[in-house]
This record gives sequence, structure tokens and C-alpha cells, in this order.
Amino acid sequence: MKGLIIKNTGSWYTVKTEGGRIVDSKIKGNFRLKGIRSTNPVAVGDHVEIEENQEGTAFITAIADRRNYIIRKSQNLSKQSHIIAANVDQALLVATVSHPQTSTTFIDRFLASAEAYSVPVVLLFNKTDLLDADELRYQEMMVGLYETVGYRCLQVSAKLGTGIPEVKALLTDRISVLSGNSGVGKSTLINLLIPGAQLKTREISGAHDMGMHTTTFSEMLDVPGGGYVIDTPGIKGFGTFDMEPGEITSYFREIFRFSKNCRFSNCSHTHEPGCAVLRAVENHEIAASRYQSYLSMLQDKDENKYREAF
Ligand code: GDP
Ligand code: ZN
Repeated sequence: MKGLIIKNTGSWYTVKTEGGRIVDSKIKGNFRLKGIRSTNPVAVGDHVEIEENQEGTAFITAIADRRNYIIRKSQNLSKQSHIIAANVDQALLVATVSHPQTSTTFIDRFLASAEAYSVPVVLLFNKTDLLDADELRYQEMMVGLYETVGYRCLQVSAKLGTGIPEVKALLTDRISVLSGNSGVGKSTLINLLIPGAQLKTREISGAHDMGMHTTTFSEMLDVPGGGYVIDTPGIKGFGTFDMEPGEITSYFREIFRFSKNCRFSNCSHTHEPGCAVLRAVENHEIAASRYQSYLSMLQDKDENKYREAF
């Protein structure tokens, strides 16, 4: 029987069958996926084959090829990765210009990672109700910048409900992941868009989640009218690793476009003569902030660090 993994708690997986039944399932014996060393060989969003048994539970016996998947490397030394979600249609990156301010580096690293995972991103600028005139102008500038690069942007207020119908339309019939730093309004948005989700929203305080090692389990929440939002508690973004400098270039869309005119095909766009990217930065055809984010990712590469989007 075919089904979709909608929740993963340790070794148990909640499977929704094609007929809409919910079946608690486990992986059969030493069933392992080739190629991926991960703590969870099967993830939320996976399409699987199950065999039901007398107890009313089932064994997962096969998993369909994934269109994409998002992984996170574990914090400990095991170097194992954890698959956060598979077969994702889009990521909504919630950002705020203030209270708290989301840095362009965070946004750009997230976008680059999403490019690497082949997950389209829509930027949601939340808390627009809190912005003064200067901050509003800054936000407009950000929207202009990211739309020029090629990302759809929405300016919303979860508090006032501004832009929420557009977000609802975006979620309908798709599988989405909601990401963003702590305090930007992810839980508030989910509660608003998915009545009954009842996620805990937290007041911003001095204390933040960083360094906390809570075990997190992804879960698919039903969007009224069709579609799912994958809730990934405690995960603000997704990291990537093992990127070559050339690859990093290709994950910055506009830098990639200009790089085709660089004199050297292996140009790193840092110092080379005839670099079309450097010229475009000087001419303000590539935003300085985007170029800085590109450099910061290159630097990680030099330091051989695992890149985290958060
Ligand atoms: P999360 O950490 O991303 O899940 O953020 P929360 O949803 O917990 O929101 C953090 C704080 O911001 C809460 O106090 C929310 O009430 C508040 N908040 C969320 N969205 C908005 C908004 O659009 N405007 C204002 N003024 N506050 C908001
Ligand atoms: Zn170059």
C-alpha cells in the first residue's frame, strides 16, 4: 500500500495512506537507503510502500525516489545528517527588517542553500506593522533587490492580517517549509494559516534557542483547502556543505549570470583581472550585500567549515 510520511518521532513514522488512513509504521529490519548516511533514512514528505501487520501497524518496505530533500548535519561528532523533509515544493523564508532584524547574510545563505537543494523560495517580510518610515523604505529596497535577483517577495503582518490571503494562496496544494530566525513570527503565521495547529508562540526575550539541544521532529500540518506545511521545530534554516567555489557562484543567481563573462572560467570573483562580477559590483549591478554574502560563503569554504544557514 502506498502512503506519505507525515510525521517522524524517533523510530516510528506516521503514514497517511492514499485512502487517507493513518498507520503507525516502522522501518523493516536493516532497510537502509543507499548513499545517504542519515539518522533517519525515511523522512517527512517521503512517498513509501507499507505492509500492514496484524497489530494494526506496518512496515515501510520501499521508498520512492525523492525530488529533493533538505538535510541538516548533526551537531555532534557522529557527522551523520538528519533529513528534515523530502519532496518540498517551496520554502517560505520569514524575515523581519526589525524586531529582530534578519541579516542579509542569513537571507543570502538561506537562498544559496535552497538553490543547492533545488527548493524554490518565497521571501515573507513579516511585522510590517512595526516599521517606521525609514524601515519601510529599507524593506522596499530589500524587496526590490530580491525581486530583481529572481525571488518572489511578500510584505505581511501576522498581527494585522496584511498579506495573509496571499500567503494562504501560496500554501494551497503545495508542500511548504516555513523557515526563519527565532522571533520573526513563524509560529504566529502557522497558527493564523492553519487553525488548530496551536504552535506555541513565544515572546521575544533575552534568552534564545541557540545552544539548546532539543530533539526535534518534523511534522506535516494540513493546510485547509489542501497542501501541507512542514513544521520543523527549532530549525531556522538549513545548512549545506561540500560546496566548491564554482558551485557557490552558481547558487547566487545574478553572480552566476555575470560570471559567464569573466575572462577566466575558474574565476573566483575576488581579485582576477577581467572579472565581470567585480565589475558588476562596482557598477551596482550586483548588490554589495549579496557580494559580501558570497564572499562569506567562500571564506567558510577556505576554512573548510560546515556552512550553516542559521
Ligand atoms: P517564531 O520564533 O518565528 O515562531 O516567532 P513567534 O511566532 O513566536 O513570534 C515572536 C513574537 O513576535 C511574538 O510575540 C508574536 O506575537 C510577535 N509577532 C509575530 N508576528 C508579528 C507581526 O506581524 N507584528 C507584530 N507586531 N508582532 C508579531
Ligand atoms: Zn569573476
